[in-house]
Amino acid sequence: LYASKAAGRGQFTFFEPGMDMPGGDTMKAELLRALAHKEFELHYQPIVNLSDVSVLGYEALLRWRHPEQGLILPDTFIPTAEDSGLIVEIGQWILEQACQDACGWEDGQKVAVNISAVQLHRGDIGASVRQALASTGLPPSRLELELTESVLLNRQEAEATLADIRNLGVGLALDDFGTGFSTFTYLAELPVTRIKLDRHFVSTLETNERSRAILASTINLARNLQLEVTAEGIENMTQLAWLRGVGCDAGQGYLFGKPQRQDLFFPSPSRLVSARAQ
Ligand code: C2E
Ligand code: MG
Ligand code: MG
Ligand code: MG
Repeated sequence: LYASKAAGRGQFTFFEPGMDMPGGDTMKAELLRALAHKEFELHYQPIVNLSDVSVLGYEALLRWRHPEQGLILPDTFIPTAEDSGLIVEIGQWILEQACQDACGWEDGQKVAVNISAVQLHRGDIGASVRQALASTGLPPSRLELELTESVLLNRQEAEATLADIRNLGVGLALDDFGTGFSTFTYLAELPVTRIKLDRHFVSTLETNERSRAILASTINLARNLQLEVTAEGIENMTQLAWLRGVGCDAGQGYLFGKPQRQDLFFPSPSRLVSARAQ
């Protein structure tokens, strides 16, 4: 196969960012072809209300259905998409597809879309968002953009753009919270509406007292800032019970559902119930 050293890292890892593909094609050319041939798809992972486990919305997670390699996960190819600038075009497709899909969901359910730094700094993300909302008719309040700290490296530039998007009524979540270096500055300066607690803290909460302290304090901080808070990577009932106990609003993780194609989980059970009642 392409990269034997990748073999040990899981069946989905076939490419290194920027590495040459067989036949002399670069991964960038492969990505261009993938876009043209509609090989990208969005999988959706539920985000639930921790008190009653009702579905608040879904996070859109990008996958590449490669004709020979099968399903490829985003960490493998997004760096190349970013380096080459192609993420701007791919990101536009993601936004439109996610907004379109969300139009078919239950009233009020949100779609969360990950945004890369490159989209913010090299593309016109404000225009992309407006275009996606206009062409699909999704109410802006049902869209949330997920930003990591790297998105915000050039904060002055980001500030104006994000304020503009926030003014449309679109939500802004700070993803992987706690893994960066200067997240507090971002919280103070940017119009974010949600904090997503990084999976690392959740996965270690049972064994690491410090993880628990960080989670509890951040949930408290979010409350004081009147921000919503989602815990990522909840995999078991112990984690769920503890997070409920400290007042975490929302959660996401394999315990509630893995990312999957929406045609595999729709119509959802509650839709079936209402369909049956009609
Ligand atoms: P993220 O935004 O922090 O997404 C959460 C990742 O954690 C997803 O990995 C998800 O499958 C995984 N995850 C969710 N629950 C659990 C759990 O309970 N246990 C474990 N072990 N993992 C869990 P995925 O789909 O591989 O995505 C990885 C990253 O790639 C994302 O991290 C995001 O930064 C990026 N990404 C994904 N889709 C897009 C996209 O459409 N655009 C951009 N720019 N980046 C994307
Ligand atoms: Mg995310
Ligand atoms: Mg995350
Ligand atoms: Mg992440």
